[in-house]
This record gives sequence, C-alpha cells and structure tokens, in this order.
Amino acid sequence: MDAATITSWMREIDVAVRAERDHLVQLDAAIGDGDHGTNMVRGFEAVIQALDADGGSPPGKLLILAGRTLVSTVGGASGPLWGSALRSGGRVLGDQANFDGGQLVEVLAAALASVKDLGTASLGDKTMVDALEPAVETLRARLAEGVALEQALDDAAAAAETGMRATIPLQARKGRASYLGERSVGHQDPGATSTALIVRALQKAAGQGS
Ligand code: ADP
Ligand code: MG
Repeated sequence: MDAATITSWMREIDVAVRAERDHLVQLDAAIGDGDHGTNMVRGFEAVIQALDADGGSPPGKLLILAGRTLVSTVGGASGPLWGSALRSGGRVLGDQANFDGGQLVEVLAAALASVKDLGTASLGDKTMVDALEPAVETLRARLAEGVALEQALDDAAAAAETGMRATIPLQARKGRASYLGERSVGHQDPGATSTALIVRALQKAAGQGS
C-alpha cells in the first residue's frame, strides 16, 4: 500500500458519507443536533480538495493533511476527533512511501488511541469508539492468524458494523447524546455509523491495489 491507497480511502469515504448523509443527519437529529451528515460531507469534500492540491506527499503526510483539513472544516465533535485520529495515524508512517498490513494496524491503533484520549470515551459509551475499537482489534487478530489483508479488512469492517448496531441499546455517556440520559437508548449512534462507513471504505480502497 502507498499514497494512492490513502487517496482512494479518502475518496471512498467521500462517496460513502455523501450517499449516507441523510441517514447520518436523521440519526444525529434523534440524539444530537442533526449535523453529523453535513459535518462529514463538508469535511471529506475539503479533504479531497486538499489531496487534489497536494504534489506527491507520502502516505503518512497525506493522512496528516487530511486530519488537519477535518479539524479546520468541521465544527462538530467529529471534526477534531477524526482530525486528530488521522494525524496520529499519519505520524506512525513518517516519510515512508509504502506500508504493509502490520503498519496499517499501527496506524489505526494510533488513530483509536487518539480518539479515546481526546474524547475520553471507552467501549460502551455509545460513540465512534464502539465501531473503531472492534475494527482495530479484529484487524490485528486476523492478521496475526495469517489471514490475507483483504479478508482481514473485510472482517474488520464487519466488526465495525456489528459495533455500530450494538450502540442501539446503549445509553450515551459522552458527547451531546449523553445530555439525553436514558432517552438516548434505542437509537444508533451517528458517529459509530460513519466510523463503520470509514472502515468499510478502507477495505474497498485496499482491495483496489496500487
Ligand atoms: P456534535 O456532537 O458536536 O454535533 P457530530 O454530530 O459531528 O458532532 O458528531 C457526533 C458523534 O461524535 C457522536 O455520535 C459520537 O459518535 C461522537 N462523539 C461525540 N463526543 C465524543 C467523545 N467524547 N468521544 C468519542 N466520540 C464522540
Ligand atoms: Mg451533531
């Protein structure tokens, strides 16, 4: 994998959040302020513009650029959270031109650590962590078992989708949804939903080869 993998990943995210914008808005309208779909679309549109204007940076630098762009264009909680996640992930790769599955795990683990650190959320708090953490753990475990990267990423995306659905019965303990207390129960978390799209987008991008 290389810089083109990162560019494809960001393009796949852009396509996915545009397709799911209304759904993400509805989910956030139920337990938040209804801006999550527009936040994600605005952010990744800007990321694509920034990547298009970039002149051949290595993959880690592209992730840092994407993260910086999200922080500066998304007002909601998801902007700084995904922004710092992508910047932390990018720093793992330094200036190297290529990376393998094991390094991809470290990129995603750094992204997860950064979300948890900034948002102080743990598994079960009904946030994006509930989709991202199982994805990272599944990818790490499947690669350690010797499963091929494409299959491991497919399993990681499925784990994110399972984690996303598992947020429905939970009561939110972080972010805007936590203000609703018990009334947040019975709704799928919007951030976990977009996170599942982001992990699925990675599986598609890695499968395109480069
Ligand atoms: P805002 O809540 O500021 O309107 P968004 O609607 O874009 O921002 O994003 C909401 C999502 O952000 C939530 O569904 C949740 O997944 C995630 N989120 C909010 N606060 C936190 C937090 N402290 N830690 C992790 N994720 C969080
Ligand atoms: Mg919102």
